[in-house]
Amino acid sequence: MNKRDYYEVLGVSRESGEVEFKAAYRKMALKYHPDRNAGDKEAEEKFKEAAEAYDVLTDAEKKQLYDRFGHEGLAGSGFRGFNGFEDIFSNFGDVFEGIFGFGGGGGRTRARQGKSLRYDLELSLEDAFHGKEAEISFHRLEGCPTCQGSGAKPGTQPKTCGTCQGRGQVIRSQGFFQVSSTCPACHGQGEIISQPCPECGGGGKIRAEKDLQVKIPAGVDTGSQLRLRGEGESGENGGPPGDLFVVIHVKEHNFFAREDDNLICRIPISFVQATLGDTLAIPLLGEEDTHEFTIPKGTQPGEIIKVSGKGMTSLRGFRKRGDLYIKIEVKIPEKLNQRQTELLQEFAQTEGLTLSKKKGKGKGFWKKKEH
Ligand SMILES: [Zn+2]
Ligand SMILES: [Zn+2]
Repeated sequence: MNKRDYYEVLGVSRESGEVEFKAAYRKMALKYHPDRNAGDKEAEEKFKEAAEAYDVLTDAEKKQLYDRFGHEGLAGSGFRGFNGFEDIFSNFGDVFEGIFGFGGGGGRTRARQGKSLRYDLELSLEDAFHGKEAEISFHRLEGCPTCQGSGAKPGTQPKTCGTCQGRGQVIRSQGFFQVSSTCPACHGQGEIISQPCPECGGGGKIRAEKDLQVKIPAGVDTGSQLRLRGEGESGENGGPPGDLFVVIHVKEHNFFAREDDNLICRIPISFVQATLGDTLAIPLLGEEDTHEFTIPKGTQPGEIIKVSGKGMTSLRGFRKRGDLYIKIEVKIPEKLNQRQTELLQEFAQTEGLTLSKKKGKGKGFWKKKEH
């Protein structure tokens, strides 16, 4: 029999990743699920085909073989698909998680990784510039220290579930199919705890506060994520713990704005400074010294002065920094005293400019141009 291409089976492109594979498989598996297609041979084949494709594409080693040599490559390595539904459910039961009415749950002792957690950390721009050793404190579910996560009162043992004989699943027949679903008596645990641990109430986990020192590298920006492996919630049935993701938020600075590794600041100057030129000093981020710079004669509003290498520290390169851009804003005085008014009127005369006193009905800009 000719086997179909695994990517085609799932309806995904060759460039897709694990997330797409899982979404596609979930969709197919639900569509062709034996609970929905009792007695349908074709659905059964499709269901198995999708499981096999998903199995291969999400296994780095098998995927590589398949990508290079196709189905033959896999057969050569001794790969065989699934035996039946039970085999599929015990491997991929988690795909059906959270969907009401579908069994699957998997074997009773299936290890599962703990949940990953997110911690939002706010930093000042200065902290982001220098990097920082941050102290964070958060809550997570941890294995109960009193019962070592078993849920049973110390000195007692959980009993094997009589309904499923410890398998965690019950199997019922439906036409040609045998459909397994989570045991209702033990909720898939395979064991019944008759005397629960007083500390965790039998759940095997407690909510605990955790303090951690986190090293924040210089140059982080809003949206940067640090992954602390194994610092999330503890796993199920001996599975590994989840991870902790620290998500960075950099607060707005009152002088510097940031664009990637560059910094931008706005300097308001008077029209006199812009006209005659001047020398000014501004503070620099992360430095003691101020930076002196010259405003050339005749500087226009909005002109930008670039200061190389005085921007933000870069997350990408050691001791590399972006640039600083000084944006010049020219302020027009809103009020003048008598003397200043006279001086400016005199200045206007030197330019051959006569100013109309009439409000609203001045001579138009265009008219003046005609001469
Ligand atoms: Zn406990
Ligand atoms: Zn049971």
